[in-house]
Amino acid sequence: MAIRVYNTLTHQKEPFEPLSPPRVGIYLCGPTVYKPSHIGHAVGPIIFDCIKRYLQYRGYDVTFVINVTDVDDKLIIEAEAQNTTVPELANRVLDNYLAAMNALGIDSIDIMPKASEHIKDICDNIQTLIDNDVAYVSGGDVYFDVTRDDDYGKLSNRKIEDQTEHRDVVGQTKRNPGDFALWKAAKPEEPDSVIYDSPWGKGRPGWHIECSAMSTRYLGDTFDIHGGGMDLIFPHHENEIAQAESATCKTFVKYWLHHGLTRFNTKKISKSDTEMQDALKKMTLSHLLSQFTGEQLRYFVISTHYRRPIEFSDGELDAKKKGLATFHRLFERIERVTGTDLFATPADSEDEWKSAEKTDADFAKEVDTFAARFVEVMDDDFNTAAAIATLFDFANRTNRFIEENKLETEDNVVAKQTAIAATRELMRMGQLLGLFRTRPESAKGGDDELVGKLMAILIDARAQSRKAKQFEISDSIRDQLAAAGVTLEDRPDGTLWRIE
Ligand SMILES: [Zn+2]
Repeated sequence: MAIRVYNTLTHQKEPFEPLSPPRVGIYLCGPTVYKPSHIGHAVGPIIFDCIKRYLQYRGYDVTFVINVTDVDDKLIIEAEAQNTTVPELANRVLDNYLAAMNALGIDSIDIMPKASEHIKDICDNIQTLIDNDVAYVSGGDVYFDVTRDDDYGKLSNRKIEDQTEHRDVVGQTKRNPGDFALWKAAKPEEPDSVIYDSPWGKGRPGWHIECSAMSTRYLGDTFDIHGGGMDLIFPHHENEIAQAESATCKTFVKYWLHHGLTRFNTKKISKSDTEMQDALKKMTLSHLLSQFTGEQLRYFVISTHYRRPIEFSDGELDAKKKGLATFHRLFERIERVTGTDLFATPADSEDEWKSAEKTDADFAKEVDTFAARFVEVMDDDFNTAAAIATLFDFANRTNRFIEENKLETEDNVVAKQTAIAATRELMRMGQLLGLFRTRPESAKGGDDELVGKLMAILIDARAQSRKAKQFEISDSIRDQLAAAGVTLEDRPDGTLWRIE
C-alpha cells in the first residue's frame, strides 16, 4: 500500500509520489513572533513533526522548514505598545516559541528561516515578478496584479471578482481591489529597525512574498508538501502560489496539506475583557506547559485527525490526559512484573519484536496485526487518531496477555520476555507519533521517599478497614485520595498508587 494524502489543490486523496524520492521537502507556515504562542500555534508543528517521523520510517529523507515572520505590522504595533524594539520583541517571543517546541518534543525542524534575514531573496523575487509584468510599482509600494495570473484562485476556488478582502488594502494606489502588496513603502513614523533598502525605495516586504521566497530558497522551485492551517488557504497560500508560479513558470507545490483549526469552548466565556484575557492566557503554551506535560499536549492534538477541528476545553484535555495514562500504566506494570527498564534504550527497531522468542502464537499474530493496521491508517492521510486507537487496542491486548499468563504472580520467563518485546513494539509505534520517548514527569516524581511512606500507611489503613468489613472507612480513604488526584489500583500482588 502506498501513502495517500488529501491534497487541498485537487480536493481528493492522492497517492504520495514525491518529486525526487527518497527526498521530501516540507514547508510549514510558522509563527509571527509578536505575542506568546497559544495551543493553536502548536498544532501545525506537532502534526508535521509526526508526518516527518512517519515519512522517515517509510524510507524518505525529509527536509522540514518552518519560517519565522519577524517583519510585520503586528510586530511594529506590539513593540511600540511594550516600549521596545521590533528585534528585541521578535527574539524574546521566538525564544518562548522555541522553548515550547522543545517541551512538545518537536525536534525535527531542519531550517527556521527568518524573514528579516532574507530580504535580498525576497527583493530578487519581487524584481522577477515586475520583469514578468505581473507586478507593478505604485509610489514606493509594489503590488501583484491578480488579473495577470490566469490561475489565480485555483487553491481556494475563488474568482477574482470576489476578492476584495486582502488585509493590506491600500485604496487608490492599486489597479484592482484584489491586488496585494509585495513591498510596502516605509511610513515616516516607522522605526528604523523594520526599514530595508530596495530598488523601489525604503520599506519592507509583504507577508505572502516572504513564504514563497523562503520556501523556494530552501526546497527548490517545486517542492512536495506545503502545510498550514485552513485559515491560510486564502489569501496567504493562494498568493504564495500566484507569486511563485508567476516567477518560475513551474508548479510551486505538489501537495497542499491543511490542518483544522482549534475551536475554543466560548460558551462559558463572557465578553468582559478580563474573562476573555484569562481565557486567552489559559490557552498560551507557557500556561498549558505548566499544567500538562509536552507529551500530554501532543497526545491531545494528535488524537484528532489533522484535517478536523480540535475541540479545546478543560474536559477534553483531562480526557486525553487519562487516555495517555493508560499507556504509561502498562509500561509501569511491565517494568514492575519483569524488572526491566523500558526507557533505558530507545525502542526504535522493528527487529526487536520480529526476533523475540514468542510463547503464544495467537498473541504474536495479533501484535503483527496491530503493527500492520498502524501502518495502514498512517498511510491513509496520516490518520493519527486511528493510529492511537490501534495503540489502545494493542495496550489492552497486552494487559490481557499479562493476566492470561499470570505474570503478576508467576515467574514465566519466556512469557515475560514476550510481554517486554510486545510492549517495546507498542512503544516503537508510539514513537513514530513522538510519544513514549521518555518516562513521564509525574511517574518520575512518584519515588519521593516521604510520599511513598505516607501512601504505604494509607494503603495499609484501607486494607485493614476492608478486612474488618468497615467499608465506609476504606471507601472514604480511596475517594479522598482520588479527589486529591491519587488513584489506587488493586492488583493480586498488592495495591498500587499513582498521581494522575
Ligand atoms: Zn506562509
